[in-house]
Amino acid sequence: MADVLVLIDLAVVDARAQPRKGALELLAAATRLGDPVAVVVAAPGSTDAVAETLAAHGAARIVAAESADADAVLITPSVDALAALVGSGSPAAVLIGATPEGKDIAGRLAVRLDSGLLSDVVDIAPDGTCTQSIFGGSTTVHARVRRGTPVIAVRPNSFEPVASAGAGTRESIELPPTDAALAARITGGHQDEVRDRPELSEARVVVSGGRGVGSGENFRLIEELADALGGAVGASRAATDAGWYPHQYQVGQTGVTVSPQLYLAAGISGAIQHRAGMQTSKTIVVINKDPEAPIFELADFGVVGDLFDVVPQLTDEVRKRRS
Ligand code: FAD
Repeated sequence: MADVLVLIDLAVVDARAQPRKGALELLAAATRLGDPVAVVVAAPGSTDAVAETLAAHGAARIVAAESADADAVLITPSVDALAALVGSGSPAAVLIGATPEGKDIAGRLAVRLDSGLLSDVVDIAPDGTCTQSIFGGSTTVHARVRRGTPVIAVRPNSFEPVASAGAGTRESIELPPTDAALAARITGGHQDEVRDRPELSEARVVVSGGRGVGSGENFRLIEELADALGGAVGASRAATDAGWYPHQYQVGQTGVTVSPQLYLAAGISGAIQHRAGMQTSKTIVVINKDPEAPIFELADFGVVGDLFDVVPQLTDEVRKRRS
């Protein structure tokens, strides 16, 4: 079977690298087209920390492309590593997560390889035909790359990670020195306030608040319900644009795509751009005081009511039943 290159996105948890759930989803997706080859572009030592997990999720080979630049420079090291691997082999495709950074890498790689690119892919058929969800999820397209090595950006939560033992054979490649004139170098960073909540894109429960929440201070109600349910907090763009909640928690077309078991939307109207990021959630619960709010069309359970009455009662009830 042909190789399928998979770019592995890493998170650092308790000072240790680990693959994000999206990376394990890509390994599962890659099996539709061939043998998954995990490509780790990261600081020296990172591959050692993640190799076992990658092999346990089907990686036939694991390629370490490690350098100090890999963590200090945006985008370019990943493009360099993937372009080199495509040049030295004949992979059936390159799979990258359709995150904001992943889409950037995919676009640049496709230009570098003179290959076709498909983005926002939610399914892949064995013949390489991809299903794309576009225009905020309102249109489904089936498309196939006909030029070069297909570069495929896969939406998070489109595939389930699969525990399956791969050979996990280790290799490494040298990354070329980064061209300073072309590189965007990270000059500083700050640790976000550590929150004892699951990561938004991976959470099984997400509680989101919108303009109806009314202020940043009132988001405490959303946080309390999320904590009672052991979930993550999300927000509509109206809420993040108002500065009530940080932008990285925005759910939707231009934010994070979530697909939890339970999505609870409070004070959110259900604009198409918001739906695009949450409509594949398994169970959707809506709290809105306007019975005509379009989000009720998606709801499995809907409460027409004021969130300031409903949310605290719901939080209390959940706490009681969980204690
Ligand atoms: P509103 O539409 O104002 O709805 C507020 C809701 O709260 C109403 O339904 C109201 O009945 C209800 N409400 C008010 N008070 C209460 C109360 N006390 N109790 C209960 N209910 C109450 N939006 C996103 O969310 N994510 C995106 O990624 C995104 N990307 C976009 C990209 C583009 C290019 C564009 C143009 C827009 C994008 N938007 C996105 C914005 C989107 O169009 C909507 O403007 C936004 O989702 C509205 O947020 P909202 O539902 O919180 O606010």
